[in-house]
Order: sequence, then C-alpha cells, then structure tokens
Amino acid sequence: MTEQQIEIQLTAEKKQKPAFDSLEFGKNFTDHMFIMDYTKGQGWHDPRIVPYQPLTIDPASMVFHYGQTVFEGLKAYLTKEGEVLLFRPQKNMERLNRSNERLCIPQIDEELALSALKRLIQVDRDWVPNVEGTSLYIRPFIIATEPYLGVAPSKRYQFMIILSPVGAYYKEGINPVKIAVESEYVRAAIGGTGDAKTAGNYAGSLKAQELAEADGYSQVLWLDGKEHRYIEEVGSMNIFFKINGEVVTPVLNGSILQGVTRDSIIHLLKHWEIPVSEKKISIDEIYEAHKQGLLEEAFGTGTAAVISPIGELFWKDEKLSINGGKTGELSKKLYDTLTGIQLGTVEDPFGWTV
Ligand code: PMP
Repeated sequence: MTEQQIEIQLTAEKKQKPAFDSLEFGKNFTDHMFIMDYTKGQGWHDPRIVPYQPLTIDPASMVFHYGQTVFEGLKAYLTKEGEVLLFRPQKNMERLNRSNERLCIPQIDEELALSALKRLIQVDRDWVPNVEGTSLYIRPFIIATEPYLGVAPSKRYQFMIILSPVGAYYKEGINPVKIAVESEYVRAAIGGTGDAKTAGNYAGSLKAQELAEADGYSQVLWLDGKEHRYIEEVGSMNIFFKINGEVVTPVLNGSILQGVTRDSIIHLLKHWEIPVSEKKISIDEIYEAHKQGLLEEAFGTGTAAVISPIGELFWKDEKLSINGGKTGELSKKLYDTLTGIQLGTVEDPFGWTV
C-alpha cells in the first residue's frame, strides 16, 4: 500500500474555528480525520482522509470490553515563516508499533502512517494555530472493532488520526507544579503494560490523580509496583532530577513509558556535556539529597507540557520544597531549547524536525 492510495474526501462544510488565543487542551478538533481498516487475512486496507465525524461501531466491539487499544501523542508547530514542523514523528510511529506488539495488535506501516499524517495536516493546515504557546496536537490511535465478547485478540481494527489545536497543557505553564508521591496506588508493574501507550494504564491512574488533586497537588509521582520504593514517572510524564550538578532519570525497566521528550533531553544534556545517567532511583535517595541540600531541580517531561518543573514534593507528611518552589535554570534552558527547536527558532543539531 502506498501514499498514493490514500483516498481523500473533503468536507463540504468547514467548521467554525475556535479562537486560537484561548485554546484549551484537547477540546477542539479539525475538519478532517484519517482512517484505515484492518481485517484478518487482508491486512490494513482502505486508508482514507474523510470529514471529521462520529463513528458507527458495534457495541460488542472488543475495544469497549477488554481495552485492546493503543494511542500516540505528538505535535505540529507553525514556524514564523509559515512552515509546519513535526518533532521526531518517526519515534511516535515506532512506539505505536511497540505498543501494538504488546497489545497483540497488528503492526502498521510506519512510513504510510507518517505520510498519512503529513497529508492530513496539509488538508487541515489552516488549523495549525499561530499564537505563541499553541500547537496542533496529533492523536493517532487504534481500536479493536471485531464484535465479539470472548477475550482474545480482535480480528478487526481501525487506525485513526485526529488533530486538535491546543494551548498550553498545564494552566501553570512553565511554572513549577506541586506533586504528591503516591505510595498506595501504582501505575504499572514490570511485566505489565506500563511501557505501552494503552488506555488501561491511564484509566488505572485516575483514582490516585483524583485524590492528589483533592489535596491540592497537580500530579502524582509514581513509585514501582513491587516495592513502592523506586521512582517511575510523574503523572503522564517522565521525570528527571538534578542532584549536586548531575542529572538522573529512572532507567527504562519495562514499566516506564519510553518518552520521546525524555530521549531528546538525554541527547541535549550529553550534547552540552552535562553529566546525565539513567538508573534506578529510590524515593529515599531523593529525600536524602533534599535533606542535604543537594536536590537542585526536578522536572517532568512529555509532549504535552515539554518541561514541567516540580516546585514541591509531598512525601510521608512532609513538604519538600525544590529550588525554593521556582523554575530551575536547567529546566528553563531545556524548555527554551526544546521549544525553540520545535518552533524552528533554535538550531536543530540533531535533525529532529520534519
Ligand atoms: N509517560 C507517560 C505515561 C505518558 O503518557 C507520556 C506521554 N506520552 C510520557 C511519559 C512522555 O512521553 P513523550 O515525551 O513521548 O510525550
């Protein structure tokens, strides 16, 4: 199947666009969407761009019952020159296929998916917002559509891509957030699906998030599923700490999602010759480093917020203030550099933008 086989059906009625200076995250969707079907025996077929529309699917579709589904999240940015840039989109397609592998969903053709994405953005190009801090959020996803109530891999799927113009993810922006360390609930366990981007991981995280919010915290810091001791992620972001001049992030262990932003930051730090290592990090180590005054910065990383500095950690009835609750120098530098590369205003030494 090639890009030429993507059928394009344009909408007869374009939607009214939202005001680009007051966009909320993930609430508005563009005029078109991409769809492709999979049928066992036939493979993926009928790639098409169609007007954005509700789906008609059987209530017995397996996705509704057993959650066989995967998704991705990436962004497109409009440069000052009016060009649309994607940030390392191949990485997201690779991760989508790794998630597919874990969820017994057939592999997609990454090149075709990327071509489909580019075509879709061309069609909806005037939806890429042009206000500072905004971007076009891209949500590729796959659902199991076979109508069957047995627990087994589906024989039918739909792959879709929808687009949403967005403002900043956190209303705090680059300002530091308060994080509660979660010692009861866990997000994922080794051997589970934590390193796949699948809906169940997120459904399972809502309870802890809700409780943390009720206590005035914006996200939870997840500990490992076995000992509730080692740091995994923060909310739906990867996490980094700067301790006594060195940057550390939890090593990928099978239960942590392999973030594209995480990988980019490790590359940037190495490029700047700032010491960075991936290792097992216990919450006790962080607590000790803080007590000794060595915990200089902490921040979450992800497509949505890029860098989200952590100003306070709540752990065992104690509030640990980090960098006086202010955005650290390194967090700021990483944020400025990454968003600059994404927007084409900072040199891209790695050839990341497409
Ligand atoms: N962890 C989780 C659980 C996530 O959902 C995300 C967002 N995809 C991340 C980390 C960060 O990944 P990325 O940098 O690729 O957005």
